[in-house]
Amino acid sequence: MRFTSILLVFLFFACSSNSNQSTAVKEAPKLERKPLTIPQFIADSAYQYIADQVKFGKRIPNTEAHVQTKDYLVDKLEKYCDRVVEQSFTAKRYDGVSLQGFNIIGSINPDSDRRLLLLAHWDSRFIADHAQDKTKVNDGVMGADDGASGVGVLIEMARMIRSAGIDVGVDILFTDLEDQGKSNDADGKSWCLGAQYWARNPHIKGYRADYGILLDMVGAKGAKFLKEGVSLTYAPELVHTVWQLANSMGYGQYFVNKTLSNGVVDDHLFINQIIGIPTIDIINKPSNSAFGPHWHTENDNMDVIDKDVIKAVGRVVTATLYRFDANYF
Ligand SMILES: [Zn+2]
Repeated sequence: MRFTSILLVFLFFACSSNSNQSTAVKEAPKLERKPLTIPQFIADSAYQYIADQVKFGKRIPNTEAHVQTKDYLVDKLEKYCDRVVEQSFTAKRYDGVSLQGFNIIGSINPDSDRRLLLLAHWDSRFIADHAQDKTKVNDGVMGADDGASGVGVLIEMARMIRSAGIDVGVDILFTDLEDQGKSNDADGKSWCLGAQYWARNPHIKGYRADYGILLDMVGAKGAKFLKEGVSLTYAPELVHTVWQLANSMGYGQYFVNKTLSNGVVDDHLFINQIIGIPTIDIINKPSNSAFGPHWHTENDNMDVIDKDVIKAVGRVVTATLYRFDANYF
């Protein structure tokens, strides 16, 4: 994306110096809007997909629960998508431990040119750095919200799309090894190892999508999704489209019309920077200084999950997807 903006500046300069000639860059033809029908996202169903993941236990890399959950996710995507790719890779954790990772990609309408990428990480964190009971730090995090919630919403979306149909292409990417990084890591590169791997080695050579939407911690009671810095830098128009839509749908208490002063290191950062797909993050971060109170603690379990929040996120992302399908943007 950085390269693209430099290129655009150059093009603008080149055009303005030849203002007598009518050889300006051609705009892509505007696609005609189609009738808009938005299928129903079912929060109860998404909730069940979250509970299913949590039942396997903590999805910590190099454990049995991690492999079992991977098989469950592949199975779900195979049921609802046209094509599924399981991408296995190894990566080093910041302390040198070798981790076996699996990114899982389910594609709907793999041959469509217009595409939306929907993603969430499915691993859970190996240490509960912020545990209230300090004896529980090394137990890791259950990640009902931090991991399973975004994945549950996306499995329900796949089910719903399969049933309702769609013309655009949709790629559902479950990234692994997002949450195994080092606290206060200066450049953030010890996080999001699966997204970094996928962005450098996409499941299809030359893969592109028009936009991406990342869901992270989208299921907890009282969630507040603010407009986040990386999203605003790389995909400001999509941020405004989604937040405006959410507010018009009556979900302004969750999709708050405020901007965080900083960006968040999350999978979207690397997808924006490495593969250049304009991608936003819907993430529960009520203030500049903190995530939700259960974040990276022993309390990130099914007790924090709220169907009303899942419903808001699921319906807003569904409405965004079907507006994209109907050529509203
Ligand atoms: Zn996390």
